[in-house]
Formats: sequence, structure tokens, C-alpha cells
Amino acid sequence: GLEIRLASRPKGWPTPDNFDVVEVDAPQPGDGQLLVRNVVMSVDPYMRGRMNEGKSYVPPFEVGKAMQGGAVGEVVTANAEGFQPGDFVLHDLGWRDYAVVNAKRAVKVDPQAAPLNAYLYALGMPGMTAYVGLVDVAKQKEGDVVFVSGAAGAVGSLVGQIAKLRGAAKVIGSAGSAEKVRYLTEEVGFDAAFNYHDGPVVDQLRAAAPDGIDVYFDNVGGEHLEAAIDVLNDFGRVAECGMISQYNNTKPEPGPNNMFKLVSKRLRLEGFIVGDRAHLKDQFFAEVGGWLRDGKISYRETVVDGLRNAPDAFLGMLRGENTGKMLVKIA
Ligand code: NDP
Repeated sequence: GLEIRLASRPKGWPTPDNFDVVEVDAPQPGDGQLLVRNVVMSVDPYMRGRMNEGKSYVPPFEVGKAMQGGAVGEVVTANAEGFQPGDFVLHDLGWRDYAVVNAKRAVKVDPQAAPLNAYLYALGMPGMTAYVGLVDVAKQKEGDVVFVSGAAGAVGSLVGQIAKLRGAAKVIGSAGSAEKVRYLTEEVGFDAAFNYHDGPVVDQLRAAAPDGIDVYFDNVGGEHLEAAIDVLNDFGRVAECGMISQYNNTKPEPGPNNMFKLVSKRLRLEGFIVGDRAHLKDQFFAEVGGWLRDGKISYRETVVDGLRNAPDAFLGMLRGENTGKMLVKIA
């Protein structure tokens, strides 16, 4: 099978040269381990951070070693109790055809309950991120006006829908193309959306939210964050989820210039990492799982075919080529 390794660390925007596609022998599982044949894997923005050197909330990828990330695969060999060949598992050793997974780090998933892709999307990490960011961090209430950036992506599109289902008065999204704006308003159910390339974010946001916003779910940072701080109402809340506009910067950009408004408007801005909110998993599965079963949440995927093309899928996601979740079909 193949595996994809980090060939070198990018400076600024990553390129295909930063990846190596290598043919390797099938690995052998030891005691307590599973041999898994991957079926589908996720490419996510946080992987850009792991391509850099230095400490963050997850360790960096190692140059010359296979990359890692969320994947679902089929168990081929099971040297651990509770698993058998044919089971499907969610684990964190994507970027390869065959993975040797410690059974303790594998979660069985049911292909009958939901399509396998869903465990990397609405029922997986991005769904959980949207849910805990809105519910636990931003403390969204009925009647709030909610703004989310990166709205046509995996997390953002779910944020908008969950906000509506939890009683938001109005949901506004921003995204990077006219087609994405149309998708948000016509298919996903956003009340308003705009293309951030069309003009200053603050002007477009004010036009969409003449009475201000109460919650901002930030996926983008920079100009979007500054605009949101301007338009937030008193006692507004910001869930600081990501700042993708800055991940490929080689030097720091000037930050929002209106931070005093955090004081004058008594705003609350809180960063979060989804992994720290595991205690909300059951609540998330109950609430979001229920909406999914009832067909109340729509989710689109952008699927790239073939492990070999995973670097392109990842680079394309950073450029905005995905609507909904970017996934790679492996087998
Ligand atoms: P998406 O599916 O949203 O894909 C990334 C999107 O970012 C692209 O489609 C693109 O859409 C947009 N984008 C790229 N560059 C820019 C830019 N300069 N300005 C504005 N938008 C840009 O990814 P995810 O849903 O997986 O992740 C969304 C955010 O959530 C990221 O910031 C990520 O780091 C964060 N995250 C945080 C977690 C946490 O625990 N805190 C967990 C998971 C994700 P467009 O065409 O609109 O530009």
C-alpha cells in the first residue's frame, strides 16, 4: 500500500513538494493492535499547523514520517478483544492505505447507523466542534443573531444549521464565492450570506445585520474578527474556533484594531479546542444525531478520489475548493 509522508516543512503556502507518496509493505499488528484498511480520510485545517515545527496543542508531524489524521477503515486483522475482521473503526492514522492502530485508540462505528463519511463530518470532529463552540463556548440562546465565517465549510455550514435549530433569530454566513453564498441561502437555510471578496467585511456584515449580532463563531480571524467586534451587540460572545486566514502567513498581520470594544461592549471572546470538550459527546450525539436522523441537517461533501491525491485535496481545502467537508476516498 501507499503512505504519504511529510517531505519538508512549508514556508508560507504548502506545495505538493512538501509531501512524498511512498509504497510500503503492509505493516504487522502486534498484541492489542488492529490492522486497518482505510476507506476514507479527512483533510483538515489544523494539519497545516502540524506541518510546522514547534509546540502547539498537537505535536508536529515529523519530516520523513507518514502524516496522521482522522480516518475510517475496515479491520483486516484484530489482535485485540472486542474487535473482529470486518468491523469499521474511526482512528487517527489516515494518510496511508493500511494502518496499525492501537485498539485503545480505535472507536467502532456502525455503517448501518450512518454513512462512514459522516463519522468524519457531521457526526465526527467537525460536527462536535460546531456544536460545542455554539452551545458551550458562545452560549447561544434563542433569539440570538449569529454570524459565522467559513460558513460553507465543514464546521461553518453545521454551525449555521445548529444555530437555527436551537432558535437563532437570524443566521448570517460569509464565504469565498458567489456559488457558496447561493448554496448557503438556497440550500442550507442561512438567512443571509455574503462573499467576503466583494467588499469590506464590516460593510457587508452591517448590511446583513442592521440590528447587530449577538454571537460570532470565528473560523477565519483577521478582518472578519475585526468586523465582528464592530458589529457585535453589548454582551456579545465570540467562539474563537480558528483563524484560517493566517495559517500560511510568514509574518504576523496587524491584529484587529478595535480591541477596546471588548471592554466598552462587555464582550466575551473565548478560544476552544474541541478535544477538551469530550464531556459533551453524549449530548452532541443525542441532539445532532437526532437532527441527522430526522433529515433536519443537510451536509454536502467534496470527495477527492484516491490516497495519492490527498495532498491536492488538502491544498485545495486551504484554497477553498471544498463546499462542506473535504474528504479523500481511499478504497
Ligand atoms: P473548512 O471545511 O471550512 O475548509 C476551510 C475553508 O476555509 C475553505 O473552504 C475556505 O473557504 C476557507 N478559507 C481559506 N482561506 C481563507 C481566508 N483567507 N479567509 C476566509 N476563509 C478562508 O474547514 P473546517 O470546517 O474543517 O475548519 C474551519 C475552521 O475551524 C478552521 O479555522 C479550523 O482551523 C477550525 N477548527 C477548529 C477546531 C477547534 O477545536 N478549535 C476543530 C476543527 C476546526 P472560502 O471559499 O469561503 O474561502
